[in-house]
Amino acid sequence: MAHLIEEAKSGRASCRTCRKAIAKGELRFGEEFDSQFNEGGSSHRWHHLACAAGALPDALTQALGEHTGDLPDRAKLEELIAKGKKNTKPGAFPYADRAPTGRAKCLFCESPVEKGSLRIAVERQVDTGAFVTKGAGYLHPACAGEQLDRDGIEHEGFKASLRANSRLESGELDQVLGEI
Ligand SMILES: [Zn+2]
Ligand SMILES: [Zn+2]
Repeated sequence: MAHLIEEAKSGRASCRTCRKAIAKGELRFGEEFDSQFNEGGSSHRWHHLACAAGALPDALTQALGEHTGDLPDRAKLEELIAKGKKNTKPGAFPYADRAPTGRAKCLFCESPVEKGSLRIAVERQVDTGAFVTKGAGYLHPACAGEQLDRDGIEHEGFKASLRANSRLESGELDQVLGEI
């Protein structure tokens, strides 16, 4: 199972985002989640498509990619998704964005990532002294390639993840990818 888009089979489910009912026959978005109460180990939470675009733009994008049936308002929905992506934080690493401050240092060259410049965020282990947790680490796009080689991470897969997770305009994203 995965995230999906389907016609509501009944009018009983309500939207997890806005809490209002989803009409029977209306296209709805199923957000997959792990359920210990279900045999298969996973189940779906339902959302109106427009609500999912705002609240879960990444998951909805994934479902749209696999949806083969009719979708009358696809262009409108994609517009809503683009807006949703701007308003939500990236959900997964790695992603590229613009540095909101100049405080972070590049993991590779250890010099600061300038405020407002394009950067790549990756997940890394952070040793707090008391315990090891996971947090974000940042890279200059031009340093990322060498860091990937150092970590033995394959470039194409990393770039595909960046493409999927980032919130940048496509021109900016291409710039980041070009520098890796
Ligand atoms: Zn809703
Ligand atoms: Zn650097």
